[in-house]
Amino acid sequence: MVLIAFSGVSLAQAPAGLPPVSNGTTGALPSLGDSSELSPAAERRIGDRIAASIYRDPDYVDDPVLVDYLQGIWQPLMTAARARGELPAELDERFAWELFLIRDRSINAFALPGGYFGVHLGLIGSVGSADELAAVLAHEMSHVTQRHISRLMTQQSRQAPWMIAAMVLGALAASKNSNAGAAAMVGGQALAVQGQLNFSRDMEREADRVGFGVMRDAGYASQGVTGMFEKLQQANRLNDNGSFPYLRSHPLTTERIAEAQARVQLASAAARPSPEKLAAQSRMQQLHAMMAARARILAVPGVDALRTMVVEAQRRAAALPAPPPAVSLASVSAAGVRDAGALYGGAFAAAQLREFAAARHLLGRLGPLAAGAGPAGKAVELLAIEVDLLEGKTPAAAAFADLGKAGSRAELLLQAKALMAANRASDVSQALQGWVAEHHRDAMAWQLLAVAYGQQNQPVQAIRADAESRAAQLDYPAALDRFKAAQGLMRSSPGRADYVEGSIIDTRARQVESIVKEQALQDKIDR
Ligand SMILES: [Zn+2]
Repeated sequence: MVLIAFSGVSLAQAPAGLPPVSNGTTGALPSLGDSSELSPAAERRIGDRIAASIYRDPDYVDDPVLVDYLQGIWQPLMTAARARGELPAELDERFAWELFLIRDRSINAFALPGGYFGVHLGLIGSVGSADELAAVLAHEMSHVTQRHISRLMTQQSRQAPWMIAAMVLGALAASKNSNAGAAAMVGGQALAVQGQLNFSRDMEREADRVGFGVMRDAGYASQGVTGMFEKLQQANRLNDNGSFPYLRSHPLTTERIAEAQARVQLASAAARPSPEKLAAQSRMQQLHAMMAARARILAVPGVDALRTMVVEAQRRAAALPAPPPAVSLASVSAAGVRDAGALYGGAFAAAQLREFAAARHLLGRLGPLAAGAGPAGKAVELLAIEVDLLEGKTPAAAAFADLGKAGSRAELLLQAKALMAANRASDVSQALQGWVAEHHRDAMAWQLLAVAYGQQNQPVQAIRADAESRAAQLDYPAALDRFKAAQGLMRSSPGRADYVEGSIIDTRARQVESIVKEQALQDKIDR
């Protein structure tokens, strides 16, 4: 369904004069079950090269609030895939299983080699529910677990891995920006070849079938699949402006749609959701409406669009009965879902426009609508901290009252920023040290830690944290530079760091140096 690995560029967009290329129909690819595939380790190496470039792309967004939301949908899918035996232990361990948020308004998600996935903000901003998002993610996950990507890449086996990585990146750049210089950047050759990197029709049907089982077992409403298909079909009819590049090169077949509808009917007949389940779904809907609004704002829609969101939210806030209705945790009405989405969006949009009084007024009206201990209530609390930080104010002490007990990553990182604003750098480093010990690849946490150490006049630790943030984003040469700088500083001014810190830095410098050497060697072999 929605995009899809490498298929961002349709053949229609290939420069004139290039020969037409097979669009990945069954004839051009090994049949399903063919054993000729790339090893997981080789696929991961290609994925890591692509990931390292994406981390450096200015459109890569690490928004902790949206990332938490996506993870909340993604992790149950992973658990379900494991339980169903769709995720072999070797792939589970070797692959990254990591989602990238991409600042792009088009409706798109795609799977990459090695268990990396891209999710456009436009997708989150457009889908109507977490179930629809789960349908897309489960489908993309299945392309990876079913080794479709490795089979596509086997087709390219005459190409060196760095060439395949460059091709995929070129296709991504071109899909993002179909009219710009992307094609020139990759060269016509790569564009022509990447026409072969589309999934076959049989692969799509397999990903539909496997993905459906995974999302249903993970507890999502199976209607998410048909909802998504309807959205794509409608877009297919209305839209030819390039925001659905996938649909042109890879149309939804009536077969796929009919199969999906049959599955959903069967599943709904088998299990009628309980009242508790329906209530939980309505609360998820409310959270989704808020997160979709957030995604639309982070996609930088422009001042006019932000202004429209503020005005709409103010209109709805004025129409709310006063005093606001008490929200029962049991269930949220459809109006409660829409109002919460609009008010959250309006408050966040107002803060972007630096209209902080308006933002706080809307937050005040939003609070009661999303009250309670649920994730929607938490999202409102976090937005209040963000509004303060955007204004340059120290958030109220309540923002970091339960430090160290922060439940989510977004909570922890926003608390850390609030503490920094309150000049409590030593509390920041204390709170984050434990986190990075468990989440070594959290580049943003390492960056915050670097700033906190800097503020406490601990330059060796600050440089080391900076080095770790580079390593977390797979930029090993930059990481090595910084580890060496930290070693130099320790030598030139002994006493700057204690013995333990010094030996950690030496060890990490050696590890990273051997990765850099290995990569250089690999590049030589590849070429
Ligand atoms: Zn697909």
